[in-house]
Amino acid sequence: MNLVCTNSPKCPIFNGILAGKEYTASVYRKKYCEGGEAAFKTCKRYMANEKFGSCPPNLLPNSSLSLGEIGVRYNLL
Ligand code: SF4
Repeated sequence: MNLVCTNSPKCPIFNGILAGKEYTASVYRKKYCEGGEAAFKTCKRYMANEKFGSCPPNLLPNSSLSLGEIGVRYNLL
């Protein structure tokens, strides 16, 4: 079982796109990326990657959009 999200090596949220928002980034990392499989599988970024094969760079792990809405809004369908 993976403890850290399998997308983490190339995930901009995990790797510092939130420059200047280190606290927010650390909360996401703890809650999703490093929270074990049960946690990172609830991340909208992880879910979008699984469903569409890609993820918009600015989508947040706790986005309130549904996967369907993400697909339409970011043209992933
Ligand atoms: S849990 Fe989400 S934000 Fe964290 S590395 Fe995985 S896809 Fe990125």
